[in-house]
Amino acid sequence: MKATLRTPPSPKSALLLFNIGQLLTLRGPSGPRRGRALADPGIVEDAAVLCVGGKIVSVGKNKDALRDAWLRRSHKRVMEIDCGGRVVLPGFVDSHTHPVFAKPRLVDFEKRIAGASYEEIAESGGGIRSSIEGVRQASKAALTAQFAATLYAMGRNGTTTVEAKSGYGLDLDSELKSLEAIRGGARQWAGTVLSTFLGAHTVPPEYRGRSQAYVEIVCTTMMPAVAKRKLAQFADVFCERGAFSAEEAEQVFAAAERNGLAVRAHMGQLSETRVEPLLRFRPASLDHMDYVNDADLAALAASETVATFVPGANYFLGVTRYPNARKFIGAGVAVALATDYNPGSSPTLSMPMAISLACTHMKMSPAETVAAATINGAWALRVAARKGSVETGKDADLAVFDVEDYREIPYWFGGNRCVLTIMNGVPNDGEIG
Ligand SMILES: [Zn+2]
Repeated sequence: MKATLRTPPSPKSALLLFNIGQLLTLRGPSGPRRGRALADPGIVEDAAVLCVGGKIVSVGKNKDALRDAWLRRSHKRVMEIDCGGRVVLPGFVDSHTHPVFAKPRLVDFEKRIAGASYEEIAESGGGIRSSIEGVRQASKAALTAQFAATLYAMGRNGTTTVEAKSGYGLDLDSELKSLEAIRGGARQWAGTVLSTFLGAHTVPPEYRGRSQAYVEIVCTTMMPAVAKRKLAQFADVFCERGAFSAEEAEQVFAAAERNGLAVRAHMGQLSETRVEPLLRFRPASLDHMDYVNDADLAALAASETVATFVPGANYFLGVTRYPNARKFIGAGVAVALATDYNPGSSPTLSMPMAISLACTHMKMSPAETVAAATINGAWALRVAARKGSVETGKDADLAVFDVEDYREIPYWFGGNRCVLTIMNGVPNDGEIG
């Protein structure tokens, strides 16, 4: 993957998007969207949005914007973008990705097609472990360049905020290198990146059969080093049979708490783990959730924790079972959607693809998927005060899609209808648009 890397231009200038056919504002009550509120995208037709200094300063009707005295006076200082009746929505918030890896996992891909399961592939040395070698050998510069290229591609698909995890290094130096690559790549992109330390992704080969010893290293050596260098906002753990137990997840969460990192976890991808004991750590998000105990749904609904679905992984692993989104939404759990971009189980960086899968396989309505991929993703990253909706005072993160109706975004699956992305007030670099 190649991209032209450059310093993003300054977001100081003013930007007017006008002639918007459908503007999905996602404005609404405070707190993550739950139940019926998930289905209201807050549409304004024939709309305009004014952004100044990287912030949204006005959202309204097109005719009012065109009559606005300040805008008329400031004509020369405002970059005007005629949206031509297209759809504009808040930039997608991709709240779950694993973008720091060296190579695709093509052998695993073929093995799975031939019938091997996720766990059989892991047992034979494939899976996450096969990415470890590549990251340990890669230079920081190479990982940084690859991540920056990934961010550019995400931006072209309408994503403006990305959560990026480490987790393919799994020793101190390689985890720090991965997080530094995230920081370096983020500096080359106009969008926003939140980083997550995922030292507890799997037990590395040198600790095989000694997971507790590895958890100790994660908690007492790696976590403090990450926190000291301010390399991550979150700590994550893969809580699953074959990875880490619920008790080990609690140890990781407790260490994160001691080191000032917020927590999130991979839960219930292949088997059920009780969630309630982990809620006392106030996780920002629990992700996958293909398997969940009914008794945990009420506890989740009563919490601020978001359940993040990643249907790209179900699709790519070829499993027929998807998370039961209707049950979560019916119970009042706040749900988000993300790509889970990673080389093993979900090599897609397309949020439009993720929402399309959620429509067709999880029976979420197009409106629900958009809310889950924007405002609720922002809640899952604790950045909802500035991201995820088109409201005055929020960051100017917008995506323009070449469609007349937002429902076409999940409908035209497998292609990319995003023609322009605005990130913190900066239009993307002209490769498209
Ligand atoms: Zn993941």
